[in-house]
Amino acid sequence: MEITGSIQNVRETVKKWRQQGLSVGFVPTMGYLHEGHKSLIVKAVSDNDKVVVSDFVNPIQFGANEDLSTYPRDIELDKKLCEAAGADLIFHPQPDEMYASDFSTYVEAQNVSRELCGRTRPTHFRGVCTVVCKLFHIVMPDRAYFGQKDAQQLAVIRRMVRDLNMDIEIVGCPIVREADGLAKSSRNTYLNEEERKAALALSKAIFYGEEMIRNGERKAKVVLAAMRSIIEEEPLAKIDYVEMTDADSIEPIETAQGRTLTAIAVYIGKTRLIDNFIVDLREVDQS
Ligand code: AMP
Repeated sequence: MEITGSIQNVRETVKKWRQQGLSVGFVPTMGYLHEGHKSLIVKAVSDNDKVVVSDFVNPIQFGANEDLSTYPRDIELDKKLCEAAGADLIFHPQPDEMYASDFSTYVEAQNVSRELCGRTRPTHFRGVCTVVCKLFHIVMPDRAYFGQKDAQQLAVIRRMVRDLNMDIEIVGCPIVREADGLAKSSRNTYLNEEERKAALALSKAIFYGEEMIRNGERKAKVVLAAMRSIIEEEPLAKIDYVEMTDADSIEPIETAQGRTLTAIAVYIGKTRLIDNFIVDLREVDQS
């Protein structure tokens, strides 16, 4: 496995692979890799001849008061995980390799970025779309892999790829959880022992809400109220949002229908965590 911080090196390596007729999978990450990231890399390895992982804490997707400076980083750990998962190349650039000092071009997927995390983080998805677009141009993959953990991000990327005619297949991968249910996240490392226990309020609410829908409840109000009350039982938890939307358009819905996303963002102390579930009611109603 190779690691490079140079755009030029990535281009040359991928070009060589392409000349050999090999397919290329791509997994964009912000590093501090865990089993969730690993599941994406393993899937990419099984679908493609070669796999590139980017490991870059993208400054422009963080708001002014967010955790850019404290975001956890450990490239040695990341190298081991990528190697074990079977990746071929890590792209680990410094910010100035990605952004010229007078950088001024952005990509924005408008409507799909508005709700959920877009409300609290108004410039976040513009930063995500811009960096992913840049990374796609650098790597030129056949397929790119994203976790459903960030369900709105996945919807935003799909929309960008469709709207801008990018010839890349977007592959969504299921949420990987800790044994007790907490969705794996690089940000879990911010939690102290007491907060780590309190964070289970998220997955408890998620599992309960999913069960309600699978048992026939369709009213968003009813499902969301039950989920809120589970989270509110936890004194360290402060709700940012608990919402139901269409999973593709991220438009709010009052009745669960079609591919339904139920998503939450909750502060546990100072740490903001997200979780979600998607139920495809077309499948549920047929069974
Ligand atoms: P990040 O490094 O947090 O930007 O995440 C990089 C990619 O890994 C994104 O596509 C995430 O959705 C995905 N990811 C993060 N955590 C998980 C998880 N617990 N399960 C599945 N995918 C995940």
